[in-house]
Amino acid sequence: MTTTVATNKLLEVKNLGVDYSAANGTVHAVIDVSFTLERGKVLGLAGESGSGKSTLAYAITRLLRPPALITGGKVIYYPEPIEKSNGAKHAKNNAWELDAPTDILQCSPQQLRAFRWDTMAIVFQSAMNALNPVMNIGAQIMDVLQTHRPEMGPDARRIRAIELLKLVGIAPDRLRSYPHELSGGMRQRAVIAIALALNPEIIIMDEPTTALDVVVQREILTEIMQLSKEFGFSVIFITHDLSLLLELADNVAIMYAGRIVEYASQDDLYSHPRHPYSYGLLNSFPTLYGPRLKMAGIPGTPPDLRAIPSGCAFHPRCPLAFEPCNRVLPILQPLNMADSEQSSLVACHLYDARFREEPPGTEEIGTHYAALAERSERS
Ligand code: SF4
Repeated sequence: MTTTVATNKLLEVKNLGVDYSAANGTVHAVIDVSFTLERGKVLGLAGESGSGKSTLAYAITRLLRPPALITGGKVIYYPEPIEKSNGAKHAKNNAWELDAPTDILQCSPQQLRAFRWDTMAIVFQSAMNALNPVMNIGAQIMDVLQTHRPEMGPDARRIRAIELLKLVGIAPDRLRSYPHELSGGMRQRAVIAIALALNPEIIIMDEPTTALDVVVQREILTEIMQLSKEFGFSVIFITHDLSLLLELADNVAIMYAGRIVEYASQDDLYSHPRHPYSYGLLNSFPTLYGPRLKMAGIPGTPPDLRAIPSGCAFHPRCPLAFEPCNRVLPILQPLNMADSEQSSLVACHLYDARFREEPPGTEEIGTHYAALAERSERS
């Protein structure tokens, strides 16, 4: 099932699955994941560590290596219509069938080379690992330009590298600095500059600011969002910190045990988290405003992906689990089945008329979590 009715599709992930084969069992890291990314939008992917977020990003970019194996699905890129792109994208991507939607998972190595960086770039978790320690920052930016824009001469490459550094807030005199000479924040900005080098349409950010202090994190994220608006690129932003996504993302997908369990606009998710796991994630960080409430947290730990619980994978931790949860797999579906334009989706039996007449309100979910917190405090 496609997770949203998109008017301006850029990327569509359909029923994607990824396994890691290990001697002690197969790890099902991504299971039947579908979503759509629209042009110019920010899609947030949130979930605890081990929920499959990063594996999903690597699968989309075809950067997975054995023992990871894509078990099925499609990642369809929709090129911009010729009349809208002014031919610019077409001129630079001559290895690419730009007029037709293309499944990235079926691309030849030549098409993949044209796709990566040109159309889709990725910013990795650790800038220190992403940068080459023995090349200065300028050389690393110019290296990307030389490979993908062979028509650019050395002067043009240098001018573009300076322009990119300025864009991400690094002084041009840092062009000759090596990664170890830069602060953590500057290194992450340099990685973002490299990702922006070829004006991609999609940037995947995999926990890009996790290692930074909150002040630098805020500065960088604000800049990324400004750049996204200025240049019109779309972002898939991966983080375990749901509070960040509530500020940055247009839509948010919550992942648990390799599946998307809720998909909603940032507003809707904040005001009405439907899935008990989303509620737990949202209430795992304190609010700055409003009454002081006891933090409930989510009991237990994420499941072993080699032996995912039957039915709803969240049922051993869910304060609202009821009879069908341990035996029937909930399907991600619109909250109101009669309304096909409804963009909020949830995979939970509480919203399935076969199992429960009236769906719960946010207060009911909160009451169950509060009761759980009280019980664990007493014990
Ligand atoms: Fe909880 Fe059942 Fe919903 Fe899963 S399906 S989140 S166990 S209520």
